[in-house]
Amino acid sequence: MRYSQLLGKTVKNVSSDLESRNAELLTKAGFVDQLTAGVYSFLPLGLRVHDKIKNIIREEMDALGGQEVALPALTPKEPWKISGRWDEDVFFHLKGHGDKDYGLGWTHEEIITPLVQKFVKSYKDLPVAVYQIQNKFRNEARAKAGLLRGREFSMKDLYSFHRDEADLDAFYARAIDAYKNVYKRCGLDAYLTEASGGSFSKYSHEFQVLTDSGEDLIFYCQSCRYAQNKEITEVAGGDKCPKCQTGVIAEGKAIEVGNIFKLMTKYTEPFGFKYPDETGKLTPVIMGCYGIGPSRVMGTIAELYNDANGLKWPAAIAPCDLHLIEIKSKDEKVREQATALYGALMQTGLDVLYDDREDKGAGEKFADADLIGIPKRIIISEKTLKDEAVEIKDRATGETKMVKLADLAKELSSYFHADCDCGEEHQH
Ligand code: ATP
Ligand code: MG
Repeated sequence: MRYSQLLGKTVKNVSSDLESRNAELLTKAGFVDQLTAGVYSFLPLGLRVHDKIKNIIREEMDALGGQEVALPALTPKEPWKISGRWDEDVFFHLKGHGDKDYGLGWTHEEIITPLVQKFVKSYKDLPVAVYQIQNKFRNEARAKAGLLRGREFSMKDLYSFHRDEADLDAFYARAIDAYKNVYKRCGLDAYLTEASGGSFSKYSHEFQVLTDSGEDLIFYCQSCRYAQNKEITEVAGGDKCPKCQTGVIAEGKAIEVGNIFKLMTKYTEPFGFKYPDETGKLTPVIMGCYGIGPSRVMGTIAELYNDANGLKWPAAIAPCDLHLIEIKSKDEKVREQATALYGALMQTGLDVLYDDREDKGAGEKFADADLIGIPKRIIISEKTLKDEAVEIKDRATGETKMVKLADLAKELSSYFHADCDCGEEHQH
């Protein structure tokens, strides 16, 4: 990707409407653009990060046994009347031809339940788990937190259907592990937190990331990580942990990056979704639902991974693997070598952002690279080429080192293979 041609370059002055750190940084770095409060366009660099987060989630949901589907965002009124959620405040309602009522999907239990019902004919068709990764629409009262609270935002919503509670419980426990993997791979330390569960089970579980920009308040054990949302809390700051009996409960602001519920028969009952068991007896299907907001995850990472100069993406979700910076020179050899290096790096399968701009000096290119936050930077200039070398700089630690061009492949393979502990096979 040549920076000279990229749509979405860094922005010097951003609107004072952007009241959150994530929106300010992501806008300045050219990742997103606010259309109106809570509604964002993703520019090429931002879209890459967003897609990488979605792909991590997709891999973990597939591993859990989820089947991906795509449900409509434009939904008719009728199923929402059945569940009683047509009049929810967050619902964007629309009128179609002939005065027909529609609403923009803000969650999809009402759509998925009757869909799955069409295909589940007996106990043999259960369990089944389906998910989608799709934009949701919510008429949020306050949308001032950038990607953390959108009026249009991305959500992965998975729904599971079971014969009985024991089967749901077993799946639910595996879903918790899948969620933990997602956050870990995205560089987030999420607390599994008990939260209000609605009318059908005692608790739901939220995944909460501690940070002062969070809108939620959680109480958590500093020793065993037991946590509860303030809205239901049975513990207080300073208490002895009721779980491990040794740790002390602390209080902290946090961002809810995921929420999972045992819905039991909350939606299957009103839709009359039952299955015949082995004896032919009709039994209500038991259901669970599992949500994550990829755009909120991206905003959370931006809130946590930054410094005064800009973003510092974790490698797994960075827009590119490398940021190649060519320092302009009268000596044509610099351009030749930089172009050749760009081609060679791309050949290895690495994703490279190549700052090939001719009208910008070194200072401005370095400042832009800091703002954009790609983990590894390669600088090629007349000076480095005198030693047949490039300089490599690590965005997170600020460490720099000179590496001979002849040794570069080996050096890079140490970052992109050996250093990796994710246990996955890489394409590069
Ligand atoms: P909140 O309490 O923050 O309003 P919620 O509990 O209503 O969220 P859920 O319905 O549980 O949200 O949605 C599942 C996930 O979708 C949330 O955990 C969050 O990651 C994400 N999400 C929800 N609302 C938004 C939003 N307005 N903008 C971005 N992400 C959101
Ligand atoms: Mg929630």
